[in-house]
Amino acid sequence: MVTKTKVQAIDCRHFIGGQYVEIEEGKSFENINPATEEVLGLVAEGGKAEVDLAVKAARKALKGPWKDATLEERSKILRKVGDLILERQEELARLECLDTGKPLSLTNTIDIPRAAYNFHHFADYIISVGTEAYQQEDRNALHYSVRKPVGVVGIIKPWNLPLLLLTWKLAPALGMGNTAVIKPAEWTPMTATVLMEILKDAGVPDGVVNLVHGFGPNSAGGAISEHPDVDAISFIGEPSTGSAIMKAGAATLKKLSFELGGKNPNIIFADADLDEVVETTIRSSFINQGQVCLCGSRIYVERPAYEAFLEKFVAKTKELTVGKPFEEGTNVGSLVSKEHYERVLSYVEIAREEGGTFLTGGNRPKGLEKGYYLEPTIITGLDRNSRCVREEIFGPVVTVVPFDTEEEVIEQANDTHYGLSASIWTNDVRRAHRVAHQIEAGMVWVNTWFLRDLRTPFGGMKHSGIGRTGGMHSIDFYSELSNITIKL
Ligand code: NAD
Repeated sequence: MVTKTKVQAIDCRHFIGGQYVEIEEGKSFENINPATEEVLGLVAEGGKAEVDLAVKAARKALKGPWKDATLEERSKILRKVGDLILERQEELARLECLDTGKPLSLTNTIDIPRAAYNFHHFADYIISVGTEAYQQEDRNALHYSVRKPVGVVGIIKPWNLPLLLLTWKLAPALGMGNTAVIKPAEWTPMTATVLMEILKDAGVPDGVVNLVHGFGPNSAGGAISEHPDVDAISFIGEPSTGSAIMKAGAATLKKLSFELGGKNPNIIFADADLDEVVETTIRSSFINQGQVCLCGSRIYVERPAYEAFLEKFVAKTKELTVGKPFEEGTNVGSLVSKEHYERVLSYVEIAREEGGTFLTGGNRPKGLEKGYYLEPTIITGLDRNSRCVREEIFGPVVTVVPFDTEEEVIEQANDTHYGLSASIWTNDVRRAHRVAHQIEAGMVWVNTWFLRDLRTPFGGMKHSGIGRTGGMHSIDFYSELSNITIKL
């Protein structure tokens, strides 16, 4: 059964100083629906001039009513934003679906509820946080610290979980009293545009949050990264972009938080419960068309379980329905754009040229002639130095490799510039701890995947990121500590 698209796509305007800005002629680009290749609408294209206006508005707002808002008042506003996101869940879920091509079932159960929860979580968290205080008896002094906003925060976002990741950064930034200039990914601009109205309705004062659409270099992203009045950049995206942003921000010493790519290993020992492993591995491989930074794209299976795992994994993968995002029963939707689709297909070609064995997938699904669809793809027989095994594909493509010893699999798992996450499957508690401790990744899951508690540190090591967010780590990034010493 096909569910009709009940929501109209919108043109995406900048939002500066509390107002949407009309799209200027000649300064826009088309927003394409990746599931149909049709034009959804126009997106304003901002550059230096628009970013400058947005940064000026954000700077001014730092001195306005936002400066006097108490922590409790900001917490109430965050809560209200979360409530309003839930009130508009259906509309937001459908817009996210149109922009990304992911299944509506996903935007309805993960993207939008989690976006609301990001605000609800930080509404509670910020009011529970204290600061340090030391009484120094021999000097008869009292030291205590207070938190102040960092200032204007530039928030530059990827396209894979548009509203979820934007709110993950914006909620703590606002909670700590900062103002913001946001640049959503060029391929997925709609939900961020609607969020501006929600923020206004929730009582966020004008100028506190500004939005400029556009691209990266020589466009809105580049302009935010180099703007002298932007104090911090919170970036999620590719490592090479992180490096460009770091260079651009170096002259003005911006504070940086980077969540970057991953090439995450799933390590499956033969004693694990195979049915549970397969069920979760299907998710960790193909959810959101494999376009989640935490997806496990390198699967290592201990040799005694290798054949049995593959048999079940391939059979379950073949049961997945690749289909239109709004169609009921769709498990896997379209990839996000033509450019990204071609990039993912180029890795499929590499695997073919290198003699990889395709156990399933590798082709456009039958009956889906338009849109950027690819069957979930499982490849074996590739050399560990293959680009498909080493580079982040960010699509529904996984490689599976057998291993014989714990040492060997740890060495292979760590043989990468990335260090975002890993998932280990075993019922041997000692081995679980032993292996987890040796994996070079910011997040290691044992007998599960993507089980999140927003208080825990989230982020990557090596080229997968700089710094951590979540709970106290977000509070630390979005505030400056000022220590006050009093001679008693
Ligand atoms: P990307 O780096 O190409 O783009 C991200 C954003 O940066 C976009 O808004 C883009 O316009 C902007 N940008 C590009 N070049 C820029 C420049 N020179 N200066 C300033 N801004 C610039 O990444 P993407 O393709 O949108 O997203 C996919 C990547 O994001 C993958 O590597 C994925 O693993 C990563 N990611 C990481 C996490 C995490 O939490 N670690 C989460 C989601 C996605």
